[in-house]
Amino acid sequence: MSEFILVVEDEPILQETLVYNLKKQGYEVKAVGDGRAALEAARARTPDLVLLDIMLPGLDGFEVCKILRKEMTVPIIMLTARDDEIDRVVGLEVGADDYLTKPFSMRELLARVKAQLRRTELVRQELRKVQPAETAHKVLTFGNLAIDLTRREVTLDGVIVPLKPQEYELLVFFAEHKGQMLSREFILERVWGWDYIGDSRTVDVHVRWLRQKLEADPANPQRIVTVRGGGYRFEG
Ligand code: CA
Repeated sequence: MSEFILVVEDEPILQETLVYNLKKQGYEVKAVGDGRAALEAARARTPDLVLLDIMLPGLDGFEVCKILRKEMTVPIIMLTARDDEIDRVVGLEVGADDYLTKPFSMRELLARVKAQLRRTELVRQELRKVQPAETAHKVLTFGNLAIDLTRREVTLDGVIVPLKPQEYELLVFFAEHKGQMLSREFILERVWGWDYIGDSRTVDVHVRWLRQKLEADPANPQRIVTVRGGGYRFEG
């Protein structure tokens, strides 16, 4: 069954180009031109991925992203027109999975789409593997932080910390390499996959999110520390 992609873009030519190229790749595509229509379409049929423009008439991409995040688990790639939007896009408040700055090439867009869909599929496979036989929970504990690998659940002082799939994957990767200096490139390759077309900023952004969720003082991190010369080390 082909994956269903919702395209939210109000510029007719770009919308048409996106639809054409995605369909050519075999995806099922629905395109809408404003935020309200995007919510309606996503509620009618949960997409496997959303391509979401920010500047939209009425409800903008930021609002749509926040609402979708609350209602469903779906990877969201935002299309930004301005550099100053990026910080909000990748910030906790909005929490997109990835972003592309206009203008972008179709080749790059398709690579990002593929990477996001593949990651979702891997998460699903992991869930299927884990769910059937489940009596002994495998839990990694670091002080008040616990990572339940069976349930894919992270808690701080026993309280569940909601993490997005990539944040969880990154945290588990850190936990499995406690005390080791990990370069951004190595993290990108191992957590996001060798064919992921992103830059090391992706890693920085996710580390920032994890710190905000897991550190007592995110500005002065004790768990995930920055190592001079380009990497991070998980201290536990
Ligand atoms: Ca627009």
